Amino acid sequence: DAVLELKAVTKSYNQGAANQIDVLRGVDLTLNAGEMVALVAPSGAGKSTLLHIAGLLDVPDSGSVTVAGQDISGKGDSMRTSLRRQELGFVYQFHHLLPEFTALENIILPQLANGIAQRAAEARAEELLALVGLSARAQHRPAALSGGEQQRVAFCRALANRPRVLLADEPTGNLDPGTSDQVFAALMDLVAGTGLSALVATHNPELAARMDRRVKLEQGRLVDL
Ligand code: ADP
Ligand code: ADP
Repeated sequence: DAVLELKAVTKSYNQGAANQIDVLRGVDLTLNAGEMVALVAPSGAGKSTLLHIAGLLDVPDSGSVTVAGQDISGKGDSMRTSLRRQELGFVYQFHHLLPEFTALENIILPQLANGIAQRAAEARAEELLALVGLSARAQHRPAALSGGEQQRVAFCRALANRPRVLLADEPTGNLDPGTSDQVFAALMDLVAGTGLSALVATHNPELAARMDRRVKLEQGRLVDL
């Protein structure tokens, strides 16, 4: 069953008066529940554009985007924002954790903002930290964590509000190969432990090979690899 579906999605940009570039020319993508899909895209191919549209941060020129069974076509900003907060989690190359808060607090805060009670939020944060092997680091601030640990906490934060879909943009792009492996293993554990689906943009062929499926952005369309 599909948790994220893009159908015939197009997006063009105007770069000056007579210069339109067609970045997405009819993207079809179905992400099923529990599935982890690698998105491979050469630089400039439109990866950010695609992730922004899938993440409901931008709207396509045409085509449809459905998240958790809800089609956003013709819907307003507030509907997209609430669907984004409920159903989508984001991870980037850099962790973007709040430096003055501990790992645990960084995972609790988005839950409090979502109306979850402190005690339940804390239990959820502890459960996620345990899944990525960081229970002993709960009281550390980001600066006291290694790069791999920071990124694992960022995964936990992204999953704090139990989204159905994780969108990850080069989540291991800043890490050395050994740490990348370890962080990726943590992501696999989270997917297994939570039933999450993930679309993971990566340039790392070894990580891509370990996912359920690989798609490549090529001339504005997604092709299976
Ligand atoms: P990637 O993430 O794969 O590098 P992007 O989605 O950022 O690719 O960009 C794809 C193409 O669209 C690039 O040629 C880029 O210059 C162009 N582009 C992206 N955003 C805009 C924008 N807001 N206005 C004009 N052109 C843009
Ligand atoms: P890795 O080899 O995994 O990148 P590091 O060598 O950076 O890890 O750190 C090893 C351990 O020391 C990590 O578990 C990390 O939590 C801890 N650590 C790293 N930097 C600090 C720091 N500034 N203060 C306290 N602990 C730290």
